[in-house]
Amino acid sequence: MTNHIPTTIYGPVESWRLGSSLGVDLLGIDSICSFECVYCQLGKINILTAQRKVFVATERVLKDLRNADWQTADVITFSGSGEPTLAKNLGEVIEKIKHLTHKPLVVLTNSTLLHDKQVRRELLKADKIFCKLDAWSDSVLRRIDRPLAGISLESIVSGIFQLRREFDGFLAIQTMILRAPSDFEIEKLAEILLLINADEVQLNLPTRPVPPDYFVEARGNAVRSTREFRQLKTVSKTELEKIRRKLSEITKLPVITRYE
Ligand code: SF4
Repeated sequence: MTNHIPTTIYGPVESWRLGSSLGVDLLGIDSICSFECVYCQLGKINILTAQRKVFVATERVLKDLRNADWQTADVITFSGSGEPTLAKNLGEVIEKIKHLTHKPLVVLTNSTLLHDKQVRRELLKADKIFCKLDAWSDSVLRRIDRPLAGISLESIVSGIFQLRREFDGFLAIQTMILRAPSDFEIEKLAEILLLINADEVQLNLPTRPVPPDYFVEARGNAVRSTREFRQLKTVSKTELEKIRRKLSEITKLPVITRYE
């Protein structure tokens, strides 16, 4: 089932937060997620699910890693073709890659499965976790992240909150800013951020053009866009800086953007 994946290891990708980041894709048979974010760089989520399972065997991932130039990467990051916590072997792979490389391990998650104790337990073995939080209400969640039915903002926030209490490593919140400031309810978002009290809040803009369909290379950042790719409208860098300052003033948390 997994033989046609070119490799489960990709990159390294140059990341503004992490430096040279080697990607691990535990999903790669297709684009698989519990969200269908309007800005998703994968283009299209073909399998919308919240059901955990093993999509790629652990041995296959380790074999691909041994064949890759992992030694030069600053960090190894679990992201790829969708939501990494959907992979039931996430904890096992984290443990084995740590043992093999002794590199800092980072997980990028959309936070939808963090209410699951087993998922949180597996994540405790990572060094850094970046949790997506784009919404301050269920209607914004539905508009931006387009979750699978049954996923609420309340379950996402309480999952991140639990993880924050249990995880000793570095926990950041990643928020994609899509809307004009008039539509942006900054106080409501700040209230949630204060509750979670993360180590850092990272504000992003959807600058990457969105492909019309999923293809495996879309998980990296070396894809050249064509006319079919969609460019999303977002706030200007000046407006983003205003939002950053305001959020930072209200929450007293380190709020960062790549444009500072
Ligand atoms: S959570 Fe990530 S992979 Fe899933 S739809 Fe959103 S951007 Fe794409």
